[in-house]
Amino acid sequence: MRKVGRGELSVVDRQDFLKKVAGIPKRILVTGGGGFLGSHLCERLLSLGHSVVCLDNFSTGRRENLSHLSEISRFHIVEHDVRKPFLFDVDVIFNFASPASPPDYQADPVGTLMTNVLGAMNVLENARATGATVVQSSTSEVYGDPLHSPQRESYFGNVNPIGPRACYDEGKRSAETLFFDYHRTYGVKTKVARIFNTYGPRMRPDDGRVISNFVVQALLGQDLTIYGDGQQTRSFCYVDDLIEGFIRLSISDDNCIGPINLGNPGEFTVLELAEMVRSMTGSRSRIVHRAAAVDDPRQRRPDISQAMAELGWEPKVALREGLHRAIAYFDSRLGTPDLAVAG
Ligand code: NAD
Ligand code: UDP
Repeated sequence: MRKVGRGELSVVDRQDFLKKVAGIPKRILVTGGGGFLGSHLCERLLSLGHSVVCLDNFSTGRRENLSHLSEISRFHIVEHDVRKPFLFDVDVIFNFASPASPPDYQADPVGTLMTNVLGAMNVLENARATGATVVQSSTSEVYGDPLHSPQRESYFGNVNPIGPRACYDEGKRSAETLFFDYHRTYGVKTKVARIFNTYGPRMRPDDGRVISNFVVQALLGQDLTIYGDGQQTRSFCYVDDLIEGFIRLSISDDNCIGPINLGNPGEFTVLELAEMVRSMTGSRSRIVHRAAAVDDPRQRRPDISQAMAELGWEPKVALREGLHRAIAYFDSRLGTPDLAVAG
């Protein structure tokens, strides 16, 4: 694919891209396919005509996320733990298996680290045996509490290796190391994307992340809980934009291996987010402050010039529009048994 200036594909490249997307159906393995992002990815891949195996142990994911896909004969669910070896004869592997919300990944830190390290090794061994391309869902957490903003892929990060977030951050960093060493040592076709905070329908209402917490709290008339002073920033990407980035990365040239940032560069303080959610829901909830989370990064904003140049990708959904959709989703779940806020 020819590189073009500002995140746009030329007409020829666009046609080439569409042909590739709609082209030969592939056999695809999605680990963590029962989770928030994985279920959207499975849905999108099936809509493109591919055959999809979802491998998940359903520790933080839900079968319900996939129930609307269960009638499709090209779709299979395998209950399995990525820490244990597996072998699927597939063309592409997306590795999404890992708890992602801080309360989830800190609930079983050793399990989180091992899921990321052994899971990476097992998908890479599967790819080595079959010649599959393997795409890793890495994270902006590899930058830790960054000393530079926006974060470019060349920044090595500022991670506390022994803090409560390390099981996730260092797990993802080790996974990136494995991806690059399998590529250099065994010629495995690898691609690494670093995801910045992504939100949308099918987040668990109780998973503890900031958007699900604030929206659910506002809808239930509970206090919106800000950890710390609320001046820390995040950049929030709507799920459909992120999935589009992954699809593009998966069909990019073999030499496009990343790491590549995927996220929305719009940067907001947590306090601004709380105020936006409160006004958009028309809620009377109060905004209250709780103790700051340990090692909580102060700022996070992706530099996406590499994704624009190499994938012709940039996000289309602004925070306000995405929040409308997320609020509608959580609103539709009011009254269902799982609508409660994590402690
Ligand atoms: P999620 O918790 O909704 O999904 C993770 C899925 O992985 C779940 O279905 C869970 O059951 C499964 N899983 C966990 N451990 C497993 C194991 N040992 N074996 C098999 N399956 C296992 O989280 P998500 O937001 O959908 O995140 C998906 C991936 O994207 C994760 O790897 C996460 O680190 C990465 N990521 C997400 C974000 C985000 O903002 N959502 C940001 C950065 C990175
Ligand atoms: N946060 C908050 N209140 C909440 C949940 C999160 O103030 O109820 C803050 C959290 O401390 C962090 C930011 O919101 O500064 C984003 O948190 P999240 O867990 O969504 O993702 P993170 O980027 O920390 O992985």
